[in-house]
Amino acid sequence: MSDLDGKVVAITGASSGIGEAAAKLLAASGAKVVLGARRADRLEAVAADIRKAKGEVEVQAIDVTRREDLERLVSLAQERFGRLDVLISNAGLMPLSPLDDLKVEEWDRMIDVNIKGVLYGIAAALPVFRKQQSGHFINVSSVAGHRVGPNTAVYSATKFAVRALSEGLRQEAGDKIRVTIISPGAVESELAETISDPALKKRMDDYRKIAIPAEAIARAMAFAIGQPANVDINEILVRPTSQPT
Ligand code: NDP
Repeated sequence: MSDLDGKVVAITGASSGIGEAAAKLLAASGAKVVLGARRADRLEAVAADIRKAKGEVEVQAIDVTRREDLERLVSLAQERFGRLDVLISNAGLMPLSPLDDLKVEEWDRMIDVNIKGVLYGIAAALPVFRKQQSGHFINVSSVAGHRVGPNTAVYSATKFAVRALSEGLRQEAGDKIRVTIISPGAVESELAETISDPALKKRMDDYRKIAIPAEAIARAMAFAIGQPANVDINEILVRPTSQPT
């Protein structure tokens, strides 16, 4: 029996990249996973793989910019598996651009998904965790939540916000609820697909050739979840060895 056996874990952004890798690794380790994202067909494909490997999984098409969708995800976990032990707020996008380009709609989108999506997850799960007197938030920030560079101002701001919210939550959470920030470096996924500037996208694709598999981040999540209930892994940074900053 693993430390994850029987844990009920809801994951946002589970249709690709890190969320998909987390879903598969945690399910293979005995967790019951509840997967959310907008692309229902991709979620079904992930679920089919998990079921083939004898894992337990439910899926729900959600948009994390809608508060009620996070409530539906949490409710699904409770209805199908009787509880929710962990919420992984992982959904995010990264349409990098210089501020001069005034891609205000992309700024809005990042704020809505990367910040408000995490907040709505807290709003949906915190009352459940309080009632259960146990629960674990894992919020996905980024190395860009620790440092800012050209073209990353808004994305970095959202990821700094994820760390600020998580640290505030941790301090308020008391001794029954755990809060973990996961800050990945370059990881293989579809994240760079949201960059609309072709030249910047090309530069980012070149930069991201050093990316490590998404499973590396899934393992960090499994490590945090697998700790004894009174041990809270507050933050993990995971970079490729070849990523200097
Ligand atoms: P992907 O683009 O592969 O995955 C992003 C996921 O977020 C998809 O499943 C997507 O699903 C989901 N998503 C996006 N918008 C919404 C929405 N409105 N509602 C619900 N789900 C949504 O990239 P990653 O796996 O890399 O990204 C996961 C997290 O990791 C993000 O928060 C990202 O910022 C962070 N991160 C990634 C790094 C990397 O190098 N890969 C580095 C640092 C941090 P769908 O489109 O089906 O809704």
